[in-house]
Amino acid sequence: MNGQLFISLLNPGIGLLFATAFFLMWLQRRERYVAYAAAAYLFTALAFLIQDVAPVLPMELQRLPANAGFLATGIFFAAAIIRRYGLPVPWRVMGLVAAVSLAIFTWFLLVSPSIPARIYAISVGAGVIALMVVRALWPVAKPHLIDRLLFWVAAFSAANLIVRPVVILTFSGGFDDYVGFQQSVYWTTVQFSQAMVSIVAAISLMVAVAIDMIAELRREADDDQLSGLLNRRGFEAAAGAALRRSLDAGQPAALLIADLDHFKAVNDTHGHAVGDAIIAAFGAHVRAVGPAAMVAGRIGGEEFALLVPGLTIDAARQLAETVRKGLHAACADRIPPGLCPTASIGIAVGTPGEGLSRLMKGADQALYEAKRAGRNRVRAFRPAPVPLGATA
Ligand code: GH3
Ligand code: MG
Ligand code: MG
Repeated sequence: MNGQLFISLLNPGIGLLFATAFFLMWLQRRERYVAYAAAAYLFTALAFLIQDVAPVLPMELQRLPANAGFLATGIFFAAAIIRRYGLPVPWRVMGLVAAVSLAIFTWFLLVSPSIPARIYAISVGAGVIALMVVRALWPVAKPHLIDRLLFWVAAFSAANLIVRPVVILTFSGGFDDYVGFQQSVYWTTVQFSQAMVSIVAAISLMVAVAIDMIAELRREADDDQLSGLLNRRGFEAAAGAALRRSLDAGQPAALLIADLDHFKAVNDTHGHAVGDAIIAAFGAHVRAVGPAAMVAGRIGGEEFALLVPGLTIDAARQLAETVRKGLHAACADRIPPGLCPTASIGIAVGTPGEGLSRLMKGADQALYEAKRAGRNRVRAFRPAPVPLGATA
């Protein structure tokens, strides 16, 4: 009997432990899916406590909140996983499944008592809820191992919930009463397999939270808040990779470096806030006119770099002119008219085997020429011709 008590405390213990862990994580990171996970584990703890430890009410009415708790666990766990992918949580459908399942359960509790029928009602209901996770995640890309793991936890839970009662009840028969039920192979298997699924699911979700946090920190470390573009570090990493991919595929790639003209004077005359607004306007403008494949960053105070895979020199020149000519309109809704500076832009086009730093040197040199020629213009870098016979 004592051994039975320990087994009974396994799931409430695990549930409370993970509910606390997810709650603490939620305090750090106010993501709704983390809160749903905490709720799921709290419900699991309560449901198992009521089921196994609570005093028996007349007509065994404590079974009702216990099984409502099991279904709530399923709903919140499903919501946690679905929400992690930013997908809409099917609260209504899940609620309906739970309500039908509880209604059938109540019928077989009060009207025509049958323990196996009640087990089927709850287990199949929870299984259908788990299937909704499978359905929601089915079309979603699963880039990480953790994404596939979460999917399979849901699929396994669904299969387990739907198939388990059929198999075990078929082999071990029905139960005469609740004492028989609680000591049955069925209930012991439920308690153990549920404990295992609980642990695997919680650890998977925690790893997912950790991966999401790292990805967010990495994004923050690579982003420039003011312009909404990448910062120098982020640009160099992303542009280097994009350039290599492009050149390896035999495609051209162009680099544009833009520098705002006489920006120091704007700052000195009209204040830093106006300067900041112009930088923000330039960032938004570049994002609006640049192609989707573009990698864009603020690589210095008022200096921006755009790497565009697949762009020939002519197309790059066109894009540069669009950026240059559209700047005034882009500034208009942020600063008083007349304060927006012009921009000078240097272009270089990548040749096979060329790295980002060489390309940036070329574009920088072209930018310098644009500045020297009077600013507010676009210049392209022309490599000095290699004399015939100079290479072996
Ligand atoms: P040029 O036409 O030759 O590029 O002249 P310039 O004045 O634009 O160039 P310079 O390099 O002399 O000045 C750049 C100025 O950019 C200096 C600094 O006041 C300003 N600046 C750099 N970072 C920021 C920023 O984050 N916010 C604001 N408001 N100004 C910045
Ligand atoms: Mg400047
Ligand atoms: Mg500059």
